[in-house]
Amino acid sequence: MIVEIVSTGTELLLGQIVNTNAPHMAKRLNEIGFDVLFQSTVGDNRTRMTQVLSTALARADIVITTGGLGPTQGDITKEVTAELLGRPMLLHAPSLERIKGFFASRRLTMTDNNIRQAMFPEGAIILDNARGTAPGVVIEADEKTVIHLPGPPHEMEHMLEHAVIPYLRDRFGIQGTIVSKVLRTFGLGESSLEERIKDYIKTQGNPTIALLARNAEIHVRLTAKASSDAEARELIAALESQLRERIGEYIFGEDEDTLEAVVGRHLTEKNLTLALAESCTGGLVTSRITDVPGSSAYLAGAVVCYSNDVKIAAVGVPAAIIATHGAVSGETAVMMAEGIRERFRTDLGIGITGIAGPGGAVPGKPVGLVFIAVAGPAGPSCFQYNFTGPRGFIRHRTALAALNHLRQYVVGAL
Ligand code: ATP
Repeated sequence: MIVEIVSTGTELLLGQIVNTNAPHMAKRLNEIGFDVLFQSTVGDNRTRMTQVLSTALARADIVITTGGLGPTQGDITKEVTAELLGRPMLLHAPSLERIKGFFASRRLTMTDNNIRQAMFPEGAIILDNARGTAPGVVIEADEKTVIHLPGPPHEMEHMLEHAVIPYLRDRFGIQGTIVSKVLRTFGLGESSLEERIKDYIKTQGNPTIALLARNAEIHVRLTAKASSDAEARELIAALESQLRERIGEYIFGEDEDTLEAVVGRHLTEKNLTLALAESCTGGLVTSRITDVPGSSAYLAGAVVCYSNDVKIAAVGVPAAIIATHGAVSGETAVMMAEGIRERFRTDLGIGITGIAGPGGAVPGKPVGLVFIAVAGPAGPSCFQYNFTGPRGFIRHRTALAALNHLRQYVVGAL
């Protein structure tokens, strides 16, 4: 069954409100096996809404709209459908009574225009609105089904769950299910990742594979369609294990996992503690680590050591190291990691130093040069990066890279 979601409302087109209804509906409908293949948005304009609804009816089996069921003149969704299907609008007495009751119970005055909310195309099935005044509507027309839901998300969501999904299941049967799983990767660019699994991408069927770049991470989304949740998960598991053989070292988590949450889990499991000495990231890594509830179990503390004096006095970097190699050097990063680990008596230490720009470059040390060191029982490891881009980007990338190196160190070396 092909579904088109039509979001109505000029506010959506003007960017005054964000369309949250369409993604919510798409997710729920996909979960119960309906194929949402089209989504459109149209303002409260009769001509354009007619165009959009007739296009939707031509290419989808089920058209579901949100918005425009209210009492005002701008609320025209039902009328446009009635006109399109050649059906008169009729008053539905029980709905009028419900609307009257809704106003009475809240001691509000009902105005005449609220009667419009009780008018429906002939032959419509009315869906009660438990959370508002505008009822929803199902109109069955030959092979097609049009469903109108109210715009306010809490009204729409309740009606979708309690009236529309049961209706669709009854009428069309269980359509099977669609399950998605996201493998979150870090450290490899989109094209390199694609290159490694391109044979799977080219021959994909069920599950499908999609690569999505998100905030310096690349997500590999596997989507399977099957008659049951368990069957879909089995299909995903089979493909996932093949992909893990190719790109497993870059996969840090699944679905909603974040790097900092995954790092936290590994540190907790291995009973390890951590301290950080951050220079160019100014505490960004520590901030992300403390975003995770319970991080006090493994994080001892951190020092933002921006100046050389603080690197020396608070973290214990030997002055000679900075004098010989410079504050932005692998040697300094390692001493920062070792120093903070020793001072805070933790299992692991992180040292980060770099030039976030736009100023600060010196001959041989360009903007974007960053060193990240991890010190621990398996000895220190240091990584050099030459990032390009604005200051915020360099700092963000550095923070993520540091979290990822910490993760790899804990998983691999300990
Ligand atoms: P009402 O009975 O409140 O008039 P309605 O069905 O006529 O409901 P609209 O008037 O189109 O719905 O929208 C009412 C409100 O619902 C909007 O101002 C907005 O806050 C919210 N809304 C509408 N459409 C969406 C959407 N697609 N995503 C998120 N919120 C929405």
